[in-house]
Amino acid sequence: MKTFQATRLFFDRAADLIDMEPSWREILTTPNREVQVRIIVTLDDGRIASFLGYRVQHNAARGPMKGGMRYHPQVDLDEVRGLASLMTWKTALANLPYGGAKGGIRIDPRQFSRAEMRRVTRKFIDQIHDVIGPDTDIPAPDMGSGSAEMAWMRNQWEKYHGFNPACVTGKPVEHYGAKGREEATGRGVGLMACKLMRRLGRRAGQTSVAIQGFGNVGSHAAKFLTESDFCIVAISDISGAYYNPQGLDIPAALRHYLDHDSSLEGLEQGRRISNGELLQLDVDMLIPAALGGVITKDNVDGVRASIVIEAANNPLSPAADATLHERGVIVLPDILANVGGVTVSYFEWVQNRQHYKWGLNRVRQELDHVLAQAFESVWEEAAKHRVSLRTAAYLIGVRRVQQTMELTSVE
Ligand code: NAD
Repeated sequence: MKTFQATRLFFDRAADLIDMEPSWREILTTPNREVQVRIIVTLDDGRIASFLGYRVQHNAARGPMKGGMRYHPQVDLDEVRGLASLMTWKTALANLPYGGAKGGIRIDPRQFSRAEMRRVTRKFIDQIHDVIGPDTDIPAPDMGSGSAEMAWMRNQWEKYHGFNPACVTGKPVEHYGAKGREEATGRGVGLMACKLMRRLGRRAGQTSVAIQGFGNVGSHAAKFLTESDFCIVAISDISGAYYNPQGLDIPAALRHYLDHDSSLEGLEQGRRISNGELLQLDVDMLIPAALGGVITKDNVDGVRASIVIEAANNPLSPAADATLHERGVIVLPDILANVGGVTVSYFEWVQNRQHYKWGLNRVRQELDHVLAQAFESVWEEAAKHRVSLRTAAYLIGVRRVQQTMELTSVE
């Protein structure tokens, strides 16, 4: 199932619960604006190449739109549209003063030099600079992009509009980035896992975990969970998965990742298994932290974990989600589980606007505060309506956006 259709189905489950009228469903699911551009660059060897770039601005009712820029060969308009809507519900759920957007480039960054990626990024901003900015739509990192790409984006945007580092978040700390932004999404995933364990009365030390994806989110989640006493038995990236039922040495894996250009290839730990096998391991907690759509009706019956934490965006299809819910598996949904990233992006934007820098402790404390409020509100909503955590999270996010629009946009 395509991404937008999947997110629409999740939306409808919440909308059905509150008998939302068809006109409101139309308003809340239709993006404000969709931009597609062709990026033409000269490669290092003199050849010309071109790539498609996208920015979908879903909803601006609650504030400037906010969302990552994905660099991946499977990026298309449908995926970006679906992910943009997730950002709207996510920022509303965390009560951040933002709307939702998403963007990306259909490109495999591993096939190009850093100089080529810099040119691609700058040319992309050349074409969309007039629709993004600190008060309209603020990009951030997502899969395949990181702080370097954000520094290039900011620099290119400022060539047109003048100094304003709040135009992009997820920048390097030396370039007006926030301390703690790089770890924020993975750390947030770990904090959410701990809050869930407390609510379930379960102990970290007796919990085995498998994590798919060892990039920004997966590696920081692994670090936080290991430090919190969870037993991580499997990790993976695009090179394959590594499994030791007794537990992996995560600090050593992190060192390998840093020493090998952010890759686990060649890690000499555990048994090599496939990414598909990792999803079906006999573990307590499964954390998809890479691509979307990895658990569908075709492989959901093999999932044996009793807790699934959606660190990635949209990793479960609606059919797989329904099956897990029926089986009593607890799924912590993406719009709650990975909200730490956009939360610290918000802190970065606030600091940029105030020309004031927070220390790491303040960032972590305020992050925990926002996450605790979001988690508890979803937990209570789910209990009140006897629905899944996902439907509860959507209910809160969707209702907040609708209420704001009723107050301001509808005459
Ligand atoms: P990243 O590019 O840093 O890392 C992606 C990881 O996934 C890498 O380890 C890569 O090797 C692995 N991967 C790629 N293709 C794979 C495949 N086919 N099978 C298995 N592994 C594969 O990306 P990230 O920033 O860590 O993002 C991961 C997920 O988290 C995405 O779904 C993203 O939307 C979501 N997310 C990221 C942020 C953020 O702040 N970076 C915030 C919220 C949500």
